[in-house]
Amino acid sequence: METKINEKHNFLSGGGEMGTLMRAKDWSKTSLGAPKDWPQSLRTAISIILNSKFPMFLFWGPELICFYNDAYRPSLGKVGKHPDILGSAAKDYWQEIWDIIKPLIDQVLQEGIATWSEDQLIPIFRNGKIEDVYWTFSYSPVMDESGEPAGVFVTCVESTGKVIALQDLGESKNQLQFAIEAAELGTWDYNPASGKFTGNLRLRNWFGLPQEEEIDLSLAISVIVERDQKRVKEAIKEALRFESGGDLDIQYTIIHPQTKHQRDVRAKGKVLFGEDDIPYRFNGTLQDITEEKRYQQQLEAREQKFRLLADSLPDHVWTTNTKGKLNYFNQSLFDYSGLTNEQLLKEGWLQIVHPDDHKENIKRWQRALASGEDFLYEHRFKGYDGEYRWYLSRAIPQRDSEGYIQMWVGTSTDIQKIKELDIQKDQFLSMASHELRTPLTSIKGYIQMLQKEYSNGKDAFLKSALDVVDNQTSILANLTSELLELSKIQSGNLSLNKESFELNQLVIEIIDQMHHIDSGIDISFSKATESSILADRQRIGQVLTNFFTNAIKYSPNSNKVIVRSYREDNNVVIAVKDFGIGISKKDQRKIFERFYRVEGKNEKTFPGIGIGLSIAAEIIERHNGRIWVKSKLGEGSVFHFSLPIDN
Ligand code: ADP
Repeated sequence: METKINEKHNFLSGGGEMGTLMRAKDWSKTSLGAPKDWPQSLRTAISIILNSKFPMFLFWGPELICFYNDAYRPSLGKVGKHPDILGSAAKDYWQEIWDIIKPLIDQVLQEGIATWSEDQLIPIFRNGKIEDVYWTFSYSPVMDESGEPAGVFVTCVESTGKVIALQDLGESKNQLQFAIEAAELGTWDYNPASGKFTGNLRLRNWFGLPQEEEIDLSLAISVIVERDQKRVKEAIKEALRFESGGDLDIQYTIIHPQTKHQRDVRAKGKVLFGEDDIPYRFNGTLQDITEEKRYQQQLEAREQKFRLLADSLPDHVWTTNTKGKLNYFNQSLFDYSGLTNEQLLKEGWLQIVHPDDHKENIKRWQRALASGEDFLYEHRFKGYDGEYRWYLSRAIPQRDSEGYIQMWVGTSTDIQKIKELDIQKDQFLSMASHELRTPLTSIKGYIQMLQKEYSNGKDAFLKSALDVVDNQTSILANLTSELLELSKIQSGNLSLNKESFELNQLVIEIIDQMHHIDSGIDISFSKATESSILADRQRIGQVLTNFFTNAIKYSPNSNKVIVRSYREDNNVVIAVKDFGIGISKKDQRKIFERFYRVEGKNEKTFPGIGIGLSIAAEIIERHNGRIWVKSKLGEGSVFHFSLPIDN
């Protein structure tokens, strides 16, 4: 079939896919009829179309029957009009753009003059949807045998790609402009060949430069303060040297020639070099950094003040970052340690801390960092002469307005003198309490003998006097033994004799003893399941006695004490509740410290020297337990300790 047509109608020869389609089509079924009957003018036009590599389209006859070639074919997309549009009436297939192209076609048919349109948007249906397609095209008349226009010949190129690229370019230019405006930047573009540059309006205003297109670089340089001019010129010269890499980043000051307004600026730029390493373009930005500079200067002045202040202090002052890394030391630390800033930064803090204090130092510092609570520790620092002195170090976290830690500020105060006095005092206490014990024991013995002797006597005064003496001697003996305990703790001589025993049983025994001493008190006990502990029975008893004695002593209007024992995880807890004067929040943390007594008119009336609880705390801590208090002023207190259960 194809060869037959080919023989007869060789104007249909060639033409790739479209040629094949045209030859295969049964034209007799169309209004044009079989190709053999087509006018010569149509044949010629089709022959040109099929054999051209340029995209072409033809509308023919009153119905505007459509023809096109392979080069045009891609413009119809993958799915859509092709191939049905071939040989069909244009109106049926170009509905979506009919109102655009019909007037053009009519114009060409009526006037017989070609049209020309460039990058015109004609959205067409292809690839399953209406697409925005841009065209550059010409519609020209095709005359028939009578010399009248019978068809419209369309040569066209799709320019969608080009138009979109141009649009994108415009868009990114807009974005760049927007960024420049938002950042309030000046921009400049220097031509190394001419020595002239252009700048945006902002830059020209800053420099007070004329509004001409191109400006001499030397004019801009003359606006720079004299002290900076040489430096800027050299930096430009250096950037223009190929080997330098072509970068410019420099800060300087300019003074507006008319207003005399002074401005600090930062110029950043990049040189572009040609093939022969000759610079052909040098452009970049200019940023106003006046405010930033002023702020920085203020900051530096403030820091300078802080340093002066810190350096004049006898205490060591230091700071760390949020992670605890040291980043500043004052002069006093350099003087004392004989180390340089670099040595201290590099080798760290511990190089001057006594080795025996390392472990606890690290532990406490880590705890402070993790919890954000103040760091407090007494440790020994090695001086430049190799001698150690005692220091009290304290660090407080500095927080921002939202509560986040910004840095830690620390001080270390020399407490060597206090420590020495402390040691002397401990030695004195130890000696005094030890020496007092022997005479006290013998006094106590003699009193008991006298009490026995006169128990049946008639002299009531003598009997009550002996009771008072006995009582007071007991108090004195207690105080002496507390002092002795304390001095043992201080010197690290408090030894523990651990045994396994039932804690509840011990509580009952101590309560009994308390009732024995003072039958007027009411101590009740509710216990949880039996809990055996491995501990020094006598010392735990001592803690209980201290809790009970305090509970009674600091409850002037109540004789009631409630004791509870319960399990918590793998610990047994003892809670001693009283209905006494209570302890304020501020004092609750401190009462476990040595010699701490709450100051107030209430407390003054109770005898004591403030060491019972510090001994109790030491004993409990030595057993890996915990000691704490919950209390409300005026309502009473609950003292607790917990100890690990012995399984
Ligand atoms: P003291 O010998 O002074 O009683 P402690 O070390 O036993 O020494 O107690 C320290 C301080 O704690 C007391 O001085 C007192 O202010 C306060 N305190 C202890 N127990 C109680 C309690 N149950 N109620 C109120 N305050 C108490």
